[in-house]
Amino acid sequence: MSQYHSVTVEIVAALKDIVGDKHVWTDPERMEPYSHDEVTGEKYIKIPEVVVFPKTAEEIAAIVRLANRELIPVVPRGAGTGYACSAVAFQGGIVLTTERMDQILEIDEQNLIMVAEPGVRTSEVQKAAGAKDYLYPGDPSSGDSSFIGGNVATNAGGNKAIKYGTTRQQVAGVEIVTPEGEIVTLGGKLKKDSTGYCLTQLIIGSEGTLGIVTKVYLRLVPRPKHVMDLLAIFPSMDSAIRIVPKIIKSGINPVCVEFMDNRSIRSCEAFLNEKLPHSDKGHYIIVSIEGNEETALEEQCVLVDDICSADGALEVVIADPVKIWRARKSFGEASRARSRIFSAEDIVVPMSEIGQVVDKVAELSRKHDVFIHCVAHAADGNVHADILKEDMDIGKWNELLPRIQEEIYQFVYALGGKLSGEHGIGYKRLQLMEKFAHPVELKMMRAVKKALDPNNIMNPGKVVKVD
Ligand SMILES: Cc1cc2nc3c(=O)[nH]c(=O)nc-3n(C[C@H](O)[C@H](O)[C@H](O)COP(=O)(O)OP(=O)(O)OC[C@H]3O[C@@H](n4cnc5c(N)ncnc54)[C@H](O)[C@@H]3O)c2cc1C
Repeated sequence: MSQYHSVTVEIVAALKDIVGDKHVWTDPERMEPYSHDEVTGEKYIKIPEVVVFPKTAEEIAAIVRLANRELIPVVPRGAGTGYACSAVAFQGGIVLTTERMDQILEIDEQNLIMVAEPGVRTSEVQKAAGAKDYLYPGDPSSGDSSFIGGNVATNAGGNKAIKYGTTRQQVAGVEIVTPEGEIVTLGGKLKKDSTGYCLTQLIIGSEGTLGIVTKVYLRLVPRPKHVMDLLAIFPSMDSAIRIVPKIIKSGINPVCVEFMDNRSIRSCEAFLNEKLPHSDKGHYIIVSIEGNEETALEEQCVLVDDICSADGALEVVIADPVKIWRARKSFGEASRARSRIFSAEDIVVPMSEIGQVVDKVAELSRKHDVFIHCVAHAADGNVHADILKEDMDIGKWNELLPRIQEEIYQFVYALGGKLSGEHGIGYKRLQLMEKFAHPVELKMMRAVKKALDPNNIMNPGKVVKVD
């Protein structure tokens, strides 16, 4: 029996008192979009009992205090673009969306900090920074849809992490509502802070299990004047991957080094209905470099060209940035277009081991006769391997997928890798987390969760199992 109570008409009335009648939804049809994220498959869908749309941290605090008193789960939600099934209310309760908290509150040019509410879209953060000649370097491929609060909660990575780091490095502070309904600011506009434990970093990547982010302090950097994207096309996966450490060691400081295997190129080509270069047999490495001096950038491009050509590249070209990034960023949609049900793996290994991982994935694809294609934030050691069900019988899929995952992660952990580089654990990877994370690490995570959320109401059943 569930330890939680259901959402009653009295609770709905109390929620309406807090946020106003029209900001509380209980109609199942209307709530359908809040029943899933981007993870596909029937077992990853659950219609919430109620969806609430608060406008302020004070309203959220009141909701959380009510939920604590009545033992009702609260599931924070951003744009629902997650790949870990962590914004879905599997144990019932309240889905709390930050959609109405969509304001950029301040751009502090003295301290190079933007203060934003959690429901601002990532692309809006980027645009607002750009309008003042700054760069917000967080750049997940889902940035046109995802919210900045969701990026913080998942420690989103994306395409510029090799130079600028993941969301962890972009965030100087957060205001949160704690699982017991208190409001507190952790960090802030400070450049450095050794004042006790770094609770800001504990919240980042906690997937809504340790509190609800209600304000974010984001670091900005001066915007580089020029960016160039190079596309190097290789005849084999191995030759493409081998080039990555050579580019990094050359002294160039690229913004990103991305990999697309031939299968993913063809899938994106078919999805976009747009011819991509050498799609018959090429494997891509996309290198972006940026700076203020055009001639210095050109010299770096020549260096990349020399390195790639010496290692057997079929062609190295200055890429049309719109076209090449549209192709790279369409990977997830291309998977879905080929197969409504698929599993997006988010493997991370030390950069030096990435070649072994893509080889292993290709081997498993052949062994189990299942379509798997890969892209990678290659210089981060982060491989996205999408395993597609296509027309496989659902029973066989449900039996085969865990076996493939088991084989992948046994291999990945032996290489010093982990389950997720940027998508998080959520509900989807909970069993794998129990199996592969170190028991002491799990014990520490449980202790943190229990200390901060004694009633286990904040996004329960995600990240780590708690008794
Ligand atoms: C096509 C596509 C491409 C993608 N590319 C990338 C990529 O390049 N890099 C990457 O890292 N990810 C990527 N993702 C995954 C996803 O977009 C990110 O995880 C993103 O950060 C989720 O943001 P969201 O607003 O959609 O959050 P949601 O999916 O709504 O929620 C994700 C998690 O955050 C929690 N949460 C949301 N808001 C808050 C809040 N205010 N306070 C506390 N917890 C909160 C939720 O409870 C949940 O646990 C991609 C997804 C898609 C569909």
